[in-house]
Amino acid sequence: MDFILTNIKQMVTNLGHGQEPVKGQAMKEVGLKEGWAIRVKDGIIDSVGPEAEILSARDENTEIVDLQGKLLLPGFVEPHTHLVYAGDRAHEWALKQQGVPYLEILAQGGGILDTVRQTRSAGKEALKEQTAKRLETMKRGGITTVEIKSGYGLDTATELLQLEVVKELQEEQPLDLVATFMGAHATPPEYKDNPQAFVDLVINEMLPAVEKQGIAEFCDVFCEAGVFSPEDSLRILEAGIEHNLRPKIHADELGVSGGSRIAAQIKAVSAEHLMETDEEGMELMAEAGVIGVLLPATSFNLAKGTYAQARKMLEKNMALALSTDANPGSSPTENMQFVLSVACLYLKLSPEEAIMAATLNAAHAIGRGDLVGSLDPGKQADFVIMDAPSIDYLPYHFASNHVSQVYKKGVPLL
Ligand SMILES: [Zn+2]
Repeated sequence: MDFILTNIKQMVTNLGHGQEPVKGQAMKEVGLKEGWAIRVKDGIIDSVGPEAEILSARDENTEIVDLQGKLLLPGFVEPHTHLVYAGDRAHEWALKQQGVPYLEILAQGGGILDTVRQTRSAGKEALKEQTAKRLETMKRGGITTVEIKSGYGLDTATELLQLEVVKELQEEQPLDLVATFMGAHATPPEYKDNPQAFVDLVINEMLPAVEKQGIAEFCDVFCEAGVFSPEDSLRILEAGIEHNLRPKIHADELGVSGGSRIAAQIKAVSAEHLMETDEEGMELMAEAGVIGVLLPATSFNLAKGTYAQARKMLEKNMALALSTDANPGSSPTENMQFVLSVACLYLKLSPEEAIMAATLNAAHAIGRGDLVGSLDPGKQADFVIMDAPSIDYLPYHFASNHVSQVYKKGVPLL
């Protein structure tokens, strides 16, 4: 397998950023090139450069693929999903639309707990089938690598089952999957009167079992008033590190939860949501090298008009990533292109910054910055080909799918 993609109108390369997440001002430097070509050998990027130069190095076995003036971007990397779940919560949407707060729905046994009930009783095959369908939607939308969290089991067996579903789907479909254990997503009903005992269960039973299973790479926790306190979040993430799971944290989604401070203290790989984060929290995370994973589709769907202060975070020199937050409650979408539009309109990112956030920085947020997210030679040949006249067109022409082809490790998927 040796081919050259030619006749590319614009190419987002994300070249020149080395091995580190791209911070602050540098996020707009997507290395946009016109008239460049890319050569792929055995699923790996061999070379990228001006078309005449790349073509002159070909031999008789090199296939030439004419992209007919389309755009080429590194495949989108989706760094934050809750994809392994059963059923949906469409009925709850109407309540939220009428203004019932999420924490109230949760307190009445709805929200996450409703999905927990459905997930616990679904069985592995149903979970796999439903998750595979969501991954198919992501693939068609140009996503080539996906992080998936557990967290709808909230008992050891179902948490392990969710992670097993991720592992089996990794073998049965083309996208790269990255698993995160998130047993501390909510306190299950059986521990309602003794939430501390559930924290102990996560630490003493689930984490050792997850390590032994060997699928998850990260440990995540929902740090929020009424869910897990900063102290419990810290305990869980520290225990996760002891079990070889790198820390991530859902922080400051509904209020200033203290999560961004915990993220900085423990040097989390990433902190998620950050809708309510204050400036001090941003400064601490920037200093500690925590990547902010912003989920503007969630803000859009919660319809409160509260969005993360992305421009302030960039001023503080944070590295930002974007995600759909695909989940059955707050963000039932698998559409990263829609996320680009919302990020430009409401987080005030430029199209370049949004694309960097959905590719290279998203890869760093899940420990894949050395493999995907840019067109550096030696990385996987993961691309999305867009039928659009410019990169600005992608967020501008919103809520549409502009993908004409997706390459994963050099293989066209559509
Ligand atoms: Zn989440």
